Amino acid sequence: MDENILNTKLSYEEIKQDDKDYFMPVFGDRLPIAVEKGEDYYIYDSNGKKYIDMMSGIATNCLGYSDKGFKQTLKDQIDKICHCSSLYYIEQQSKLAKTLSQAVGENYKCFFGNSGAEANECAIKLAKKYQGDKQHILTLRNSFHGRTLGTLAATGQEKFHKSFMPLCPTFIQFSTIDELKAKTTEHTGAVMIELIQGEGGVNPLEKNFVNQIDKFCKKNNLLLIVDEIQTGIGRTGKMFAFEHYNISPDIITLAKSLGNGIPIGACVAKSHIAFDKGDHGSTFGGNPFACAAANFVLSQIDHYMLKNIKEKSDHIFKRLAAYSPRGMGLLIGFNAGGVKNIDVVKKALEKGVLILTAGFNTVRLLPPYNITIEALDKAIDTIIEIMEELNESTEL
Ligand SMILES: *Cc1c(COP(=O)(O)O)cnc(C)c1O
Repeated sequence: MDENILNTKLSYEEIKQDDKDYFMPVFGDRLPIAVEKGEDYYIYDSNGKKYIDMMSGIATNCLGYSDKGFKQTLKDQIDKICHCSSLYYIEQQSKLAKTLSQAVGENYKCFFGNSGAEANECAIKLAKKYQGDKQHILTLRNSFHGRTLGTLAATGQEKFHKSFMPLCPTFIQFSTIDELKAKTTEHTGAVMIELIQGEGGVNPLEKNFVNQIDKFCKKNNLLLIVDEIQTGIGRTGKMFAFEHYNISPDIITLAKSLGNGIPIGACVAKSHIAFDKGDHGSTFGGNPFACAAANFVLSQIDHYMLKNIKEKSDHIFKRLAAYSPRGMGLLIGFNAGGVKNIDVVKKALEKGVLILTAGFNTVRLLPPYNITIEALDKAIDTIIEIMEELNESTEL
């Protein structure tokens, strides 16, 4: 292999061409910049242009890009060791498991994978194992829980299958409490929900609805799985979104903000909902490097940070009031209305602000927690300006 690749600087056009020629086209045409680096709550592209970051790598870079403690933690861990097998005890992993389990509640245990999808796979396998014959899982219409599942079906060894037949779980969708009740049968073992649908359009579930789901699950011995991959680790102004709802889920899943950009996912379950030896595993999952990153992130999410997130949230809600924003904390969406949400995203990119789409026609904001009110204001000025411009041009 050519060592020169390490020292060659590609132009934006070359990066784009190599992507087109050699990367599977799952992301289609990307937004038209190549990211070079991050600083504080700014992103720089390969031409040196600066952007205010209002999307945090999709709810991932919660501490922004210049956190000294985070960088030092990673450097120190690299100097020691990045990866070793979980066949051995790992101090960082034990620490993280304890901190995270205790943060969720009494009597929980963790498993670590490398992504949100893996955290959910773990949750689903766990529910299937626990519920025996009751293999159906109800999920909300419009939900998003990841892109894998089937890796188990592909594994050609009986012993890995036996607790989890049939291999592909049956998911049944619902939107209301009555529909949930109607669709629950003797085969139903779990209900899996996002408390605020992120990809689905920033749709917070009503408190009453969630409490009804929780009650129904308890009464019928269904496991309540809460997917907090986007909402967890402070994003909504509490450590976990379920704390807004006064429920204690049987299983919650985390990823995104947990590693501040280092890949890690966690499945946290009540201890009696348990695997046996050999039921599950991961080569990379929970390695020292990823756990060190997550330990650092968790050490930063304290009362002050959460209060600060709420204040910034209130500020955004006030400033965007005319657009009827919804969401919680620093996960906020509003309808693009008469214009297309992707056009708002593209225009914002041109004007140096990174934002996201979600759902049918939602504009989604997910700024890093360390963003300043000044930077937020600048970004919001730009967003409002774009909305006004686009609306005017559609009226003509
Ligand atoms: C992003 C996301 C996932 C998938 O996480 P990956 O790390 O992309 O696998 C699952 N559930 C929710 C709610 C998400 O926002």
